[in-house]
Amino acid sequence: MKIAIMGNLHDDGLKFLKNNNCEILQISNFNEEYLKNKLLDVDGIIIRTATLSANTLSGCKNLKIISRHGVGYDNIDTNYIEKNKIALGITGTANAVSVAEHVMTMFLYLAKKIYISNELTKSGKFDERNNIPDFFELYNKNILIIGFGRIGKEVAKRCNGFDANVYVYDPYISNNEIKKMNCYSINKEKGLEIADYITIHLPLNEKTKNFISYDQFKKFKKDLILVNTARGGIINEDALYIALKEKNIGGAGLDVFNNEPPITNHPLFSLENIILTPHNAALTLECRKRMSIESCENVYYYLTKNINLNKKNIIIN
Ligand code: NAD
Repeated sequence: MKIAIMGNLHDDGLKFLKNNNCEILQISNFNEEYLKNKLLDVDGIIIRTATLSANTLSGCKNLKIISRHGVGYDNIDTNYIEKNKIALGITGTANAVSVAEHVMTMFLYLAKKIYISNELTKSGKFDERNNIPDFFELYNKNILIIGFGRIGKEVAKRCNGFDANVYVYDPYISNNEIKKMNCYSINKEKGLEIADYITIHLPLNEKTKNFISYDQFKKFKKDLILVNTARGGIINEDALYIALKEKNIGGAGLDVFNNEPPITNHPLFSLENIILTPHNAALTLECRKRMSIESCENVYYYLTKNINLNKKNIIIN
């Protein structure tokens, strides 16, 4: 069977495919017309963040499965694949821990204002440590998790480890399930008002675009720390810029942007009270290995109808 790999994968997954006699087609040019030609006869595609449009996919005559190296799939035309009976796999068990640790890193970095202390120490102003702005604990604070799926739940465990009060907004998850994880269910409005920390773990779609925008920023506490590792566009970047610039909130952490990569003179880059990372929350070495193996297994086991397939990973079939 012939499998196209769009983007770089950790060797562990490639070894798995080679050991199972798969033909591998490595692709690093994502131009639509180029792809259309290259993908003509592949049985499966493993894809990172490049886009797969209906136009590109219309050339694929043998394609049976697309396997995402990751969990979000807003880069793939799902209408087309549903209509054409092409399956979609994700690496559902691979990246939640890595992203959850990234969120905790951002929470702590911003809450403790490490950026100020670091600068102070390095610039020989050690004795000015009592003059820097207030910084905070996670202990006994209200943390709001928006979206209580794989990643939201891993964040909850870690926040509970800090003895925080963990609130969840996710109308699709039962109160019982939220309670079992020592968290409190809350509605969106109230959650935004009481939160000291907010972290977003939603898919990007029509309902979640601009989920946090100008109106929501009016409700926040003035020291709020807001983190988005889900998808750009869920928080309105212009509204965020104003809130940070005018110090209406305490700080923000973003791993994801409206446009990736963001423009080099992006207004958010000029602010001190924000920490930015290049969509790499799930790119720890451990996680890259897991995603590589899981994405390759998904495609191979699906094509061979092997019972080892983790059924939860095939979300369109
Ligand atoms: P998931 O599908 O397991 O969980 C998403 C949760 O959001 C679900 O519980 C669902 O009920 C809830 N939800 C959906 N629409 C909602 C709405 N309108 N209001 C409230 N809740 C809603 O997904 P996950 O694996 O936890 O991933 C979450 C997000 O993180 C996705 O956007 C994914 O693309 C992103 N992600 C980013 C990285 C990264 O590297 N930064 C890595 C992995 C995942």
